[in-house]
Amino acid sequence: MRVYGGCIEPGGYELENERVTAPCPDCGKPARHHHFERAEGSLNRYHTIDCDHCGHESGYDFLMP
Ligand SMILES: [Zn+2]
Repeated sequence: MRVYGGCIEPGGYELENERVTAPCPDCGKPARHHHFERAEGSLNRYHTIDCDHCGHESGYDFLMP
């Protein structure tokens, strides 16, 4: 019998991953908001915003090293 990894996935638990359209904090026009969670030792929640109208981007600090 071969065992992969040492992780046990919590049964039936789904990480939040929701994309919604909501007003841009800069220009107030519809922007793409993305709410999601990542399991990185602990569960971290993120909220990113992309606006096609004014180019606003925020919430991407987690991409930094
Ligand atoms: Zn905007």
